[in-house]
Amino acid sequence: NADAAMYLAKENGRDGFHFFTPEVESASRRRMMIETGLRSAVRDGSLSLLYQPIFAARDGRMTKAEALLRWSHPQLGPVSPAEFIDVAEETGQILALGSWVLEEACRNLANLEVSGGGAFRIAVNISSKQFGQDLSTQIQGLLERHALDPRRLEIEITERVLLHPSTEVLGQLEALRALGVSIAIDDFGTGYSALSYLMAFRIDTLKIDRSFVVAMEKDVRSQALVGAITGMAHDLDARVVAEGVETAEQAALLSSLGVDALQGYLLGRPMPLDSLQSLLFRTGAVALAPL
Ligand code: C2E
Ligand code: MG
Ligand code: MG
Ligand code: MG
Repeated sequence: NADAAMYLAKENGRDGFHFFTPEVESASRRRMMIETGLRSAVRDGSLSLLYQPIFAARDGRMTKAEALLRWSHPQLGPVSPAEFIDVAEETGQILALGSWVLEEACRNLANLEVSGGGAFRIAVNISSKQFGQDLSTQIQGLLERHALDPRRLEIEITERVLLHPSTEVLGQLEALRALGVSIAIDDFGTGYSALSYLMAFRIDTLKIDRSFVVAMEKDVRSQALVGAITGMAHDLDARVVAEGVETAEQAALLSSLGVDALQGYLLGRPMPLDSLQSLLFRTGAVALAPL
């Protein structure tokens, strides 16, 4: 029967065919350590947020900063979010992590001094799993508790969330939008890109994935694509941000294609809150449209 066959396969695997090679074993051990570590991450102070500035292409003013989660595992040291977010989504731990990120970002935003009453937004990455909880009520509560103007907060979701949105997700997005929170589509162009959902649902910001920015330099068709996406986004009243801008050539090209804002190592790496505050003091901040 199936159980016996499985048992034999396992036995063979171990002794005969080396299914458990050292790499496989250490990879699964690492995963287990990440899973276990995540369980206490919210309580043990090993999480932190960095902020990466986003600048208007037109005048170089800082309009936003994206909150990026960092985690230092007690034994493994720093683990990239590209690695632990996936694990957290699979285990459900993303709900606790996501709540911590939202709380911390709102607390930080409330403490930021923005000169001249200029509008300045913080963008927070939201996993699709977080929509299962009552996200809009959670966010509304946080905004009230920290006395924040909802227009100062933007949430970033990936295009996958809007591909086959449940009525629950659509309802949550609608409620957030009604509050005044902005919605950004992250990593645009990496998934099942369809501009149709942009028309079905109002989006404030489209973030063009770094892979386009890289391809653009060598490939004229990618430039045409970025230009076309930007044009369509503007027709739908959305702003366009380019991610992963690393060279002055990319920045110039993106600006000439009409992209509204730039984010990348060329302009600023993810940084701690106090560095972001210094940068805000030095450069000031204005929004594309005043609050
Ligand atoms: P993302 O939201 O697309 O964030 C942009 C990523 O690109 C960040 O990686 C950032 O550090 C990196 N980046 C920025 N500029 C450049 C550049 O010029 N060149 C290159 N090569 N990379 C650049 P990071 O911080 O490692 O985050 C990776 C991903 O993990 C994020 O991609 C996001 O999907 C996820 N993530 C990060 N923080 C959170 C969070 O709080 N919640 C959730 N759900 N996901 C998060
Ligand atoms: Mg993002
Ligand atoms: Mg992104
Ligand atoms: Mg990305």
